[in-house]
Amino acid sequence: MSTSLLYHAFGIINYFYQSTCYIADAIIVAVKDDRWRPGCPVCRNRNVSCREKVTRRFRTIPVGQETVYIDLPVQRVECIRCHVVRQVKVRFADERKGYTRAFGRLVLELSRHMTILVPARYLGVSWDLVKGNPKS
Ligand SMILES: [Zn+2]
Repeated sequence: MSTSLLYHAFGIINYFYQSTCYIADAIIVAVKDDRWRPGCPVCRNRNVSCREKVTRRFRTIPVGQETVYIDLPVQRVECIRCHVVRQVKVRFADERKGYTRAFGRLVLELSRHMTILVPARYLGVSWDLVKGNPKS
């Protein structure tokens, strides 16, 4: 896999491909943020103090029958201006979501053509994720 494939297949841009591993029925793709200097997620101030990184796992669109996850170490920062300590924004997923925007769009598209249960079973997610998709 390459950084180019991340963009074209999963809609992930401005992240570097790191590695791929295969566990049971899942493909796990590790990526890395290309920002060398993160900013405050609240006020966008560049004067931040970096804390630890927390690896988050995001569900993304499947490849064939295989479930695909994106692993991303997300930097936590403390803003010098507004004193907030938060994770930097993930550009391919909405806040507090465990799936990518591409996955959300796939769920939305499938739910337009069938009942909520069918895409939920096909994708192996709960029906309330399909129902709760904000754009559906
Ligand atoms: Zn700030």
